[in-house]
Amino acid sequence: MDVSVENVVRTFGTTPALHGVSLEIESGELVALLGPSGSGKTTLLRILAGLDVPTFGRVLFDGEDALKLTVQQRNVGLVFQNYALFRHMNVLDNIGFGLRVRPWARRPSRKEIRKRASDLLDLVQLSGLEKRYPSQLSGGQRQRVAFARALAIEPRVLLLDEPFGALDAKVRRDLRRWLLEIHNKTGHTTVFVTHDQEEALELADRVVVMSQGRIEQIGTPDEIYDSPDSPFVFSFIGESSVLPVNVEQGKVWLDGRELDLSSGDAPDGPARLFLRPHDVDVVDNASGAIVGQVCVLRRHAGLRRVELEVGLKRNRIEIELPAHFSLNRASPVAFIPRRYRLYPASLALES
Ligand code: ADP
Ligand code: MG
Repeated sequence: MDVSVENVVRTFGTTPALHGVSLEIESGELVALLGPSGSGKTTLLRILAGLDVPTFGRVLFDGEDALKLTVQQRNVGLVFQNYALFRHMNVLDNIGFGLRVRPWARRPSRKEIRKRASDLLDLVQLSGLEKRYPSQLSGGQRQRVAFARALAIEPRVLLLDEPFGALDAKVRRDLRRWLLEIHNKTGHTTVFVTHDQEEALELADRVVVMSQGRIEQIGTPDEIYDSPDSPFVFSFIGESSVLPVNVEQGKVWLDGRELDLSSGDAPDGPARLFLRPHDVDVVDNASGAIVGQVCVLRRHAGLRRVELEVGLKRNRIEIELPAHFSLNRASPVAFIPRRYRLYPASLALES
């Protein structure tokens, strides 16, 4: 099912939690809402679910005004971080719950419900645990049951709010892979909230980066990582370092030295140069290069992490080099960023 969010505003008292958010989600897509805590992700998800209503704006499901539909009519599958299972019901009964409470006319027979719940238990790879109670399951298993329960109603859209948030790192990684497999098998339109960029980049077809109630950028994981539209997205996604520079007539200057970098379409004036640690080439000739002095060296698996002090203002930046580079503290290092972005200094880091 297509989901369309049009200029949605949500204000709590006088504080706006969403400032006119617009978003088109295509049928079958897995979309991640990614942003720091308080950026409005949960508010947007609750509005999609029908648990909350926008102060202004529209939500359409397949072109139909979803705000006129109740939660039940919207038929969405929900999984939250701590979406408690029913403690007094075993796994199979938990999964079948959404079907058992349907109005009689739309309720499948008991036999069908058991069959569907047991098929879903297979899908989430928990066969054999149907008689267990939630207290007899691990955190990861509980979230898989919650997921099966959300799928049981054959939802038009699946809404997941930090579903793996409470689990430890290893289990999270396993469940991520598992979620992707299930998504590929079942093809549900899925909106997934996370503050974990790794999770978003690894899972999503498209990532919606949010900050302070606004969408900063929408794009594929590659677009978001390789071409961040704003200083906020560059620094929020992946690792980055920043240097204050000047752009003059298409040239980039650092402390009065011209760098061998194109300024692209950056306007003249003070700017910030953003780069990623692994996107640099070390060069012998310092002319046109960024030059720094090593202050911290760390071995990182097959690589060397180098913290450099650069320029008159002694800005600290971090680069990554192959381990065979032998460096000492205070060694000078000259490098040229292979990939970088320039943003006018006036653009705030926060939106
Ligand atoms: P996220 O899920 O990205 O962490 P939320 O959508 O939960 O962010 O919150 C966005 C903003 O809206 C926050 O500033 C939060 O304090 C505020 N907010 C959310 N729900 C309520 C509420 N029921 N009443 C008042 N303020 C709220
Ligand atoms: Mg939240």
